[in-house]
Amino acid sequence: MPPTLAELLKIPGLGPKRVQALSHELGVATIEQLRQAASAGQIRNISGFGAKTEQHILEALAAHADQTQRFTRLVAVQYAEALVDYLKHVRGVDRVVVAGSYRRMKDTVGDLDILVTGEPGSALMERFLAYDEVDAVLAHGETRSSVVLHSGLQVDLRLVPAESYGAALHYFTGSKSHNIAVRRLAQARGLKLNEYGVFQGEKRIAGDTEESVFAAVGLPFIAPELREDRGEIEAARAGRLPQLIALSDLRGDLHTHTKASDGRNTIEEMARAARAQGLQYIAITDHSRRLTVTHGLDPRQVARQSDEIDRINASHSEITILKGIEVDVLEDGTLDLPDSVLQHLDVVIAAVHSKLDLPRKQQTERILRALDNRYVNLLAHPTGRLLGERKPCDIDMLRVMRKAKSRHIGLELNAQPVRLDLDDIQCQMARDEGVLVSINSDAHSTFDFANLQYGVGQARRGWLEPDKVLNTRSLETLRAALNASRAKSG
Ligand SMILES: [Zn+2]
Ligand SMILES: [Zn+2]
Repeated sequence: MPPTLAELLKIPGLGPKRVQALSHELGVATIEQLRQAASAGQIRNISGFGAKTEQHILEALAAHADQTQRFTRLVAVQYAEALVDYLKHVRGVDRVVVAGSYRRMKDTVGDLDILVTGEPGSALMERFLAYDEVDAVLAHGETRSSVVLHSGLQVDLRLVPAESYGAALHYFTGSKSHNIAVRRLAQARGLKLNEYGVFQGEKRIAGDTEESVFAAVGLPFIAPELREDRGEIEAARAGRLPQLIALSDLRGDLHTHTKASDGRNTIEEMARAARAQGLQYIAITDHSRRLTVTHGLDPRQVARQSDEIDRINASHSEITILKGIEVDVLEDGTLDLPDSVLQHLDVVIAAVHSKLDLPRKQQTERILRALDNRYVNLLAHPTGRLLGERKPCDIDMLRVMRKAKSRHIGLELNAQPVRLDLDDIQCQMARDEGVLVSINSDAHSTFDFANLQYGVGQARRGWLEPDKVLNTRSLETLRAALNASRAKSG
């Protein structure tokens, strides 16, 4: 089935047979064509449809359109984990996995696609519809049901046979363009690939695991985060897939806040929480004075905090606390604190928090100038975007990256779920340009170290390997890297 037709399967009430009939009888191949045909009253005339079905399709389309809202990973994870846990406890259920863009670790999620293996005819679908959070039932079948949760999040649940699990997981994980590319490889080998398996004629030759699906088309396993048809097929064929970074590769966090500015915890509390996450070092990087709403620090307060960090480091050996600052980049590209303050700090993060709407040339020049400061180590949240709230600022990212590289400055991948800034494409660009990336929590409380997992997900989508990420380094090699930009400018 062509991929646009597969899209139609997302409309509750439309199974493969009906989609084929719509395509054959009316040439309907897209959601938009389906809407036109239904509105024009053409669907009722196809045998097996009728006016009632046509009406249902119209309603389902309306619900589908309302569903364009996207959710941050933080929200999606909360719903997905609770629901997966609930479904796992249903009798007869074997495996439960969330596929789709969720599994590909996209920064936002439109809906949840859940696959389940287990006994057919079990209580699964009844229990799914009875879930507390369910607001509306869009479709209810033996192997497939769709609901909308109170939050507006749509969840599709599919029961698949164990022998099709891998093929279904691959199919519903997507992306669509990745699937098309893999299907072409199958066709070139005279095979048929769909969500039920890989077939040679009528014979299923693979499909119980994803590995078997990839192997059948001559590929090694490709991590879900890479499945965007952005070169992963070619890399896989050439044996050059990246060894993607994992959360356990991170040894430190270079961007955290305390009560001294707008954080909620003390230095010691933050250090203890970071240690509990398995980190070996953190940088305390409160805001500088310009950000008055966040109680940014002036030079005297910076000095006082440095003394406190010295005291804590002297009495605790299980984690090293680095002295840092998130210093504001002023409109002209100068920094909010003088070099005489910055030079005593281990980590200086330059950050744009104001005038995010400057024209491209001006914004780019402003950032380039900030990166010329010999004490800057990192550029925080480089585009300033807030998902669903604020667009990225308009900058020439390639120039910024090349400047950062020439100055041995790293770019931050800010791991706050509303930021995830750099985005995936920019991470890939940093990799190609040879710019170091630092995956930072930007924690404002002890709970926020959990952000790091989202940052790592984004980094994996951006093909990043551990050696391209600054805070996978040991403390010793990190210090050397941090000093590189300062040494260079002499
Ligand atoms: Zn910031
Ligand atoms: Zn911050």
